[in-house]
Amino acid sequence: MYDVIVIGAGPAGCMAAKRLARTGYKVLLVEKMQVPREKSCSGILIERSIDLVESEFGKIPDTVLCSPSITKGIIIYNEENLSFKFESKGLNIWRSAFDHWLTLQVIDNGVEFRPSTLALSCEEKEKYVAVHLKGDTKYYENAKAVIVCDGAGSVIKKSLLNVLSRNIITYQTFCKGTIDLDDKFFHAFLHSQFSEHDAWVNVKDDFLIFGVCVKDVNKIESYYAQFLSFLISTYNAKIQSCSKKERWIIPEVETDCPLDLGRGRVLFAGESANFLNPMGEGVSSALVSGCAASEAIKQIYVQGKDIDGQALLSVYEKNILQEKERMIRQWDLLAGISPKFSHYNQMHL
Ligand SMILES: Cc1cc2nc3c(=O)[nH]c(=O)nc-3n(C[C@H](O)[C@H](O)[C@H](O)COP(=O)(O)OP(=O)(O)OC[C@H]3O[C@@H](n4cnc5c(N)ncnc54)[C@H](O)[C@@H]3O)c2cc1C
Repeated sequence: MYDVIVIGAGPAGCMAAKRLARTGYKVLLVEKMQVPREKSCSGILIERSIDLVESEFGKIPDTVLCSPSITKGIIIYNEENLSFKFESKGLNIWRSAFDHWLTLQVIDNGVEFRPSTLALSCEEKEKYVAVHLKGDTKYYENAKAVIVCDGAGSVIKKSLLNVLSRNIITYQTFCKGTIDLDDKFFHAFLHSQFSEHDAWVNVKDDFLIFGVCVKDVNKIESYYAQFLSFLISTYNAKIQSCSKKERWIIPEVETDCPLDLGRGRVLFAGESANFLNPMGEGVSSALVSGCAASEAIKQIYVQGKDIDGQALLSVYEKNILQEKERMIRQWDLLAGISPKFSHYNQMHL
């Protein structure tokens, strides 16, 4: 019997597992992939993420950084191509290396880590939760509580809460070339003809990365082509070659930022709970929610005793309230920049 099983070794899962283990809890962290694993991401750590990571895991090593290693913030372009600059220092990281570093820190702190282990479902029993796992064979492990951090499209959420995850598809390409945009900023374009959410340009080492978001997978190519021709005509983009294409998903966050925080002794954190800011920044809220879920367990659970699932969930809800309010404020800010997002504003007036 573990005290806690954490599912998924991204930022949310690593934060939750580490905080519990360093307080003496017996923690199992399962990850479906072999590590290091790929994760499609622009890989910008905003200042809040840097602070959260460095206060829990120590200094972020140079080995996970790419160039330009220090970023200056985000420039958002609305439909009229008016630009809104938000300056703030960030770090440019490769997610595979960064998440691997987090995982190694977690193992060093006494967490039992099981890679290549897919969580299939969580079943609430009277006094514990049985987690159905698949490695070489299928088997169960039991814990007093579970924190699910399996990202967007969570299979555990679907099986436990019976809710269908609503997702947006992201598509990005890694190209060689040049463009007349400041490489220290993340550039987000809200024009409707390029994307059903936003389109972006950022730089990692000698790659120019171009991305678009769609709800309908069949629209990727046309949006991407229109975006590139706009970049060529407006920002003098010159593309020599593209070596890598990535397709991923992010949660489609709705007007009032609804969260799926869990049921009973199974808590959700990070993207599996729908935490994400409107410009696709999600690492900071993954860290905050992983932290809040582990704190809720620490507040409620006396080792060896049973957990009152309802009490646990309500402490977690309280711990995470400020984060939800922050998300709503960010949607409202975006609504002030682009009419495309204005219905978010009306919901909160
Ligand atoms: C194209 C793109 C660009 C982005 N750019 C940024 C950015 O620049 N900055 C930023 O802050 N955020 C960015 N994000 C968002 C950010 O990547 C996520 O919000 C963040 O990774 C969420 O962390 P998480 O821990 O909740 O989930 P994840 O990082 O997705 O981790 C989930 C983990 O769970 C594992 N897993 C999944 N299912 C199972 C299962 N059933 N059993 C066991 N393990 C499982 C996965 O393999 C994975 O390791 C971007 C996202 C995308 C798609």
